[in-house]
Amino acid sequence: MSGRAQLMWDEAVTGYDFGPEHPMDPVRLALTRSLVGAFGLDREVEVVAAKRAGDSTLRLVHREDYVDAVKAASADPASADGSYGLGTPDDPAFAGMHEVSALIAGQSVGAAEAVWRGEALHAVNFAGGLHHAMPGSASGFCIYNDASLAIARLLELGAERIAYVDVDVHHGDGVQASFWDDPRVLTISMHEHPRTLFPQTGWPEETGAAGAAEGSAVNVALPAGTGDAGWVRAFHAVVPELLAEFRPQVLVTQHGADTHFEDPLAHLAVSLDAQRAVQVACHELAHSYAEGRWVALGGGGYAVVDVVPRSWTHLTAIAAGREIEPAEMIPEAWRQEVFARTRQLAPARMSDGRWPVSWADWSEGYDPADRLDQAVLAARRAAFPLRGLLP
Ligand SMILES: [Zn+2]
Repeated sequence: MSGRAQLMWDEAVTGYDFGPEHPMDPVRLALTRSLVGAFGLDREVEVVAAKRAGDSTLRLVHREDYVDAVKAASADPASADGSYGLGTPDDPAFAGMHEVSALIAGQSVGAAEAVWRGEALHAVNFAGGLHHAMPGSASGFCIYNDASLAIARLLELGAERIAYVDVDVHHGDGVQASFWDDPRVLTISMHEHPRTLFPQTGWPEETGAAGAAEGSAVNVALPAGTGDAGWVRAFHAVVPELLAEFRPQVLVTQHGADTHFEDPLAHLAVSLDAQRAVQVACHELAHSYAEGRWVALGGGGYAVVDVVPRSWTHLTAIAAGREIEPAEMIPEAWRQEVFARTRQLAPARMSDGRWPVSWADWSEGYDPADRLDQAVLAARRAAFPLRGLLP
């Protein structure tokens, strides 16, 4: 079975719903799943519904009192008063919140198990990537941190080196915090600068706990407005060298689609085409440095019709080994479904018309006066020497 990709999917994940006023509309998951089907990708991968993460799994990352608080808020949403971050505007409580959050976590844990055991080489959970959840609190639309839980499960199964690469527009703060003092987990997050965006962390100087874990966190804080050429340049200027040095046994990636220029909650200017380019690069890096073992997760993304379904359908296709060309037209049946469900017009192609993305490689030099290059330099200077690499 090795070599085949798994897509983790249980229809019930669309119950992760903070209500009609909240930007994280679960229609983004439903529309992604149906676009995957419209391209026939569900026949190229094994579609697997893993079981909900149980208490002992949740406890690998989360504090017992927090899990108890989620259960209480889930049973009686009106009782959530803001403690543990539950019942806040970002993380309103809703009935069944514990069950569906644990179900999403279970998909990422199941993905990690399948890849570790060789049942699949790649596994995708686009419902996951809920990277802001902290061990003891909800944060930023995230209740349980499925990314941290997948990594913690890999450690429990005996993995000694896991790399986590997070390209969501927001800092992967919950995952960084989960493994801050653990040298077995290298976390790399590339995001909009904390000066201009939630969660206001992810400064280059955040490099892991002093001691053995120093240099196990890497942060690339990009200026607002960064577009395709800068975003892809920054990725290649930081990530491959670190993975070549760290040699992870598994690569876990988070593909929040909220870097997109249409995203309403952030200020980068990345196109679908650049997102696809970085997904392709992550896939290649998994093969170069992690023997192909790749767990790919979703994340943020609030342009729920125009961007998220196309971005994560590309991700699924790449994992399936059947990449969709950017120029491809989107099947009409899906466009009709989009209109019926959302009264919005769906995009026509799997591209924003910016393919191929061109960018200049870091090894060809940099400009110390350029803001993007300054961001890359800051990340390299802070973290690379701690890993024995030249800044
Ligand atoms: Zn995000």
